[in-house]
Amino acid sequence: MADAFIGVGSNLGNKLENIRKAMSLIKERCKILKISHLYKTEPVGFKSQQWFLNCAAKAQTSLKPKELLEFLLSIEKKLGRVRTIRYGPRTIDLDILFYDDMIIREDNLVVPHPRLHERLFVLVPLKDICPDFIHPALNKTISELCSSASNSKVSKLQTEENYLN
Ligand code: ADP
Ligand code: MG
Repeated sequence: MADAFIGVGSNLGNKLENIRKAMSLIKERCKILKISHLYKTEPVGFKSQQWFLNCAAKAQTSLKPKELLEFLLSIEKKLGRVRTIRYGPRTIDLDILFYDDMIIREDNLVVPHPRLHERLFVLVPLKDICPDFIHPALNKTISELCSSASNSKVSKLQTEENYLN
């Protein structure tokens, strides 16, 4: 069994419903140990698109990293994600942020996620569930990374943990 941290985002359609559906599909192969609050975040990279809803989860799984990636990509597909422009709008985006403290650098899988340390929309939800987790490549805690990431608007939307129900 491994502990994986999964980043979840949506900015198309019924965003909360997309996140709910994704989480319930994730539960088919993972045990959710922790879930962050829900955040409304401004798009980064490609600006002229809708705001996002983001959260992060700690998931216990017997899937190996590649299997977990395939599984998450199959959920993205099921929920109707169509890849258009890079960083563009998506019904659901599921990223492997960390997988235990493994460092993986392959063509289609890089863990820790290569851009997580510069993205507040990932770091702020992560901070809810693992503020003291040490980024295995950068050797800094999530709290530390949070205070050095460049600013973007991230506001807490749902403080109750039952937003998934
Ligand atoms: P982003 O999530 O950075 O906005 P995309 O979701 O469009 O980008 O990119 C998805 C592709 O990124 C996947 O096809 C996958 O092969 C690759 N990828 C590499 N590392 C990871 C990771 N840690 N988690 C999810 N996808 C990853
Ligand atoms: Mg992705």
